[in-house]
Amino acid sequence: MNNNDLEPSKQRVYPELALNIITRQDHNVSREQISENALKVLYRLHGAGFEAYLVGGGVRDLLLGGKPKDFDVATNATPEQIRQLFRNCRLIGRRFRLAHIMFGRDIIEVATFRGHHQENNKQLASQSEAGMLLRDNVYGTIDEDAERRDFTINAMYYNIADYSIHDYAGGREDMEDKLVRLIGDPETRYREDPVRMLRAIRFAVKLDFDIEEETAAPIEHLAPLLRDIPAARLYEESLKMLQSGYGLETYHLMREYDLFQQLFPTIAQYFSEEYDSQTELMLDLALDSTDQRIEEGKRINPAFMFAAMLWYPMMEQAKELMHSHNFNDYDAVMEASNRILDEVVKRIAIPRRHTATIREIWQLQLRLPRRTGKRAFRLMELNKFRAGFDFLEMRGEVEGGETKQLADWWETFQTAGRNMRQAMVTDLDGTTATGKPSSRRRRSPRKKKSKTSS
Ligand code: ATP
Ligand code: MG
Repeated sequence: MNNNDLEPSKQRVYPELALNIITRQDHNVSREQISENALKVLYRLHGAGFEAYLVGGGVRDLLLGGKPKDFDVATNATPEQIRQLFRNCRLIGRRFRLAHIMFGRDIIEVATFRGHHQENNKQLASQSEAGMLLRDNVYGTIDEDAERRDFTINAMYYNIADYSIHDYAGGREDMEDKLVRLIGDPETRYREDPVRMLRAIRFAVKLDFDIEEETAAPIEHLAPLLRDIPAARLYEESLKMLQSGYGLETYHLMREYDLFQQLFPTIAQYFSEEYDSQTELMLDLALDSTDQRIEEGKRINPAFMFAAMLWYPMMEQAKELMHSHNFNDYDAVMEASNRILDEVVKRIAIPRRHTATIREIWQLQLRLPRRTGKRAFRLMELNKFRAGFDFLEMRGEVEGGETKQLADWWETFQTAGRNMRQAMVTDLDGTTATGKPSSRRRRSPRKKKSKTSS
């Protein structure tokens, strides 16, 4: 399918939303669960005579008994008015103009209610030919703001004035039915912002909800619209999809809807019907281990994940180069790395510092088999050794055979004491010299030739 098949919709269709106010005694959201900083912002806005609501994921996750990642605030104060109320305020964003209230590392995002677009207001709002919103700075009322939000469960507003929750689109019912449902006409809403397709998947997995039928129906057909999204935004989204603790399941659901294939065509060309190509096995391992690390509260590195996702596609190219150009393995991997990464960053803008690490991890794979003499000891000193080794272990699981043996060797080597390490390396020297493990513990050190000897 090509993009021209996707007829831009002629008109924006706004649904009639029916407001349902859930009073304080009818919901479980208490102020104790809201961060102190978010409360400060809400109260200050309210105190200055503005409307102030907690909205989005903060309300949604609290209603569902979860722990929100962050707290977003919506208000009828304009960005300028917000700035005048808070010393620690920064205005950001072009597509959406927003205020960030900074409390050290904690940031509370404050957005002014968005309104509907007027025909002739190109300065403030603009839409592409495909119906995509390019700029969106028309301010409006809370009702209008609610209609502009993506899913019903994301359009619930906690009112600091009386602690009630304003449910504009039937979010509470959908929460009870565990449904991710777009507000309004799904196709129109996806065309306005194709990233909503990714968000539907993300929330379905994270909340363990189903995607409501009409919300799900157009996704596969519209998936190619993701090609029009800037690479920087897709990078951010792909991290949210794959590195928020549910990466494995999210990838599989994205794949079902043909979304993963749009983001990573380089990888998808190695997909198989049985889900068992080396590329796919590696994806499963890498995403699963990322999920586990997040669960254990360990640090995660996007470079490691992308390195794993792209390793076998890169190696396929490297093998081709060895054939067609007679490259040695090192040159082939270098050249293939360049080609693959150039291709990927066009769609997903992986920052340079991460692509540098990806290359390092890949190059280490060529060095880890070479362990004789002082090499093994030196490799262990390298900054990226641990990442390189963890990577090798995953490859061992995928490939078995020599790669698995090599990973096991390194595992033993790392945990061994000094003498044992030396013996392991010596054994290798024996193996390479005779093809069999050496029976001697160690050859006597060769005497250096004296310069003056004739
Ligand atoms: P989480 O932060 O847990 O990932 P969230 O729902 O808070 O989930 P954010 O990206 O923080 O997601 O956005 C906050 C709110 O802004 C959303 O709940 C939704 O109401 C609105 N929103 C965000 N992105 C979009 C979008 N692409 N289209 C429409 N509304 C959006
Ligand atoms: Mg949020």
